[in-house]
Amino acid sequence: MSDARAALDRITQMEDGPEGLNAFLALATPGDLDVRAVGRLAGVPVAVKDNLSTAGLPTTCGSRLLEGYQAPYEATVVRRLRDAGAVVIGKTNLDEFGMGSSTENSGFGPTLNPHDRSRVPGGSSGGSAAAVAAGYTTMALGSDTGGSVRQPASFCGVVGIKPTYGRVSRYGLVAFASSLDQVGTLGRTVSDAATLLGVIAGHDPRDATSADTPVPDFTSDVGRGVEGMVVGVPAEYFPEALDPAIKELIDKALARLVGAGARLQDVSLPSTSFAIPSYYVLAPAEASSNLARFDGVRFGVRQSGPDIASMYERTRAVFGDEVKRRIMLGTYALSSGYYDEYYGTAQRARSLVAQDFAGVFEQVDVLFTPTAPTPAFALGEHTNDPLAMYLSDVFTVTANLAGIPAMSVPVGEVDGLPVGGQVLAPWWHESAMLAVAGALEASLAGSAP
Ligand code: GLN
Repeated sequence: MSDARAALDRITQMEDGPEGLNAFLALATPGDLDVRAVGRLAGVPVAVKDNLSTAGLPTTCGSRLLEGYQAPYEATVVRRLRDAGAVVIGKTNLDEFGMGSSTENSGFGPTLNPHDRSRVPGGSSGGSAAAVAAGYTTMALGSDTGGSVRQPASFCGVVGIKPTYGRVSRYGLVAFASSLDQVGTLGRTVSDAATLLGVIAGHDPRDATSADTPVPDFTSDVGRGVEGMVVGVPAEYFPEALDPAIKELIDKALARLVGAGARLQDVSLPSTSFAIPSYYVLAPAEASSNLARFDGVRFGVRQSGPDIASMYERTRAVFGDEVKRRIMLGTYALSSGYYDEYYGTAQRARSLVAQDFAGVFEQVDVLFTPTAPTPAFALGEHTNDPLAMYLSDVFTVTANLAGIPAMSVPVGEVDGLPVGGQVLAPWWHESAMLAVAGALEASLAGSAP
């Protein structure tokens, strides 16, 4: 039996049973699996987040508004997967349009964390992270606007990479906040996530923000080692309130990097506190503009009456609360009279965050921090408190604001729940980040439990 067929059987059996995680919104059919098994990912099943356009499978973005929508074309990253011989095994669950940190904002019910089914898998790429953690597939695609690949990777105990902005094409990724969105990869191992990144990266003339920058052999970077590298430890990512158990795991990981030949250096990124407020003005502002296309005129009108009023009514009725909150916040921030005070200020804060990184990367090769301030939280714990939910991105949004690459790699467990450490690197230096993550993974595998 092919790997893809075995994966499909495993997923169907598990997800249809009492232990189902609700990780998938759509699955390939056995007939879809007959692909030409040649290429770097010959025959490898890959799970794809449901905000990436796929021919032959619906693309809902986790929104009831797009239920049954079939994109008429494929995202460049999906096309590249197929060209490499991979099999798109199914579309994974997400917070509606990527807006959330727990996958609870999906219009199709939450995904459960395979390590503890009473907890969230993180979000918004929670379905992809859970699919990899549950062993359904070894690799998955996600998208990361403010942490949506890295935070669920941390919560589910897998590896998650957000590349440099412009490294990977956004063509066919349904836009949330275009200046922050990047497609990212998730894997069981650093090498899996790096290999998948190598397949999807590279210039795409269909995305005006895609850079024509050479793509290194990421897979070979993973085993390169960290001898002589300087790892920066930014004070602002270790606040007083940080869970001491997480701090301890991060400290142990840093010690292992030193054991592998790296040198640590304390650094400061003083504008870090501007990141969350800036992100939560800019991301909703861009979202309010991007989501204007879902006015009921072109998408999601199948069940509406023919008149414009009932189309609008349907759009209003089916968008989830978080999506409506973001549209309202964003429209307000962009409205005349408030534009400079909110949007303008947030843009200036964004520049300061980027300048901080540019400054410290003159002194260090990479930075190492916790990925998230806590392990996976309980289902329902933050659903009535959007601000608490937003704070789970406090360590991840900075990389999106600056456009730098960042990734999460497992560093251990707290009370049986996985915890990730975050490696951040200068623009286009994914190689350094992968070397550090690879060294950590190897040292963790070699250390006593
Ligand atoms: N959790 C963040 C938000 O809700 C980030 C989401 C993402 O990266 N797609 O906006």
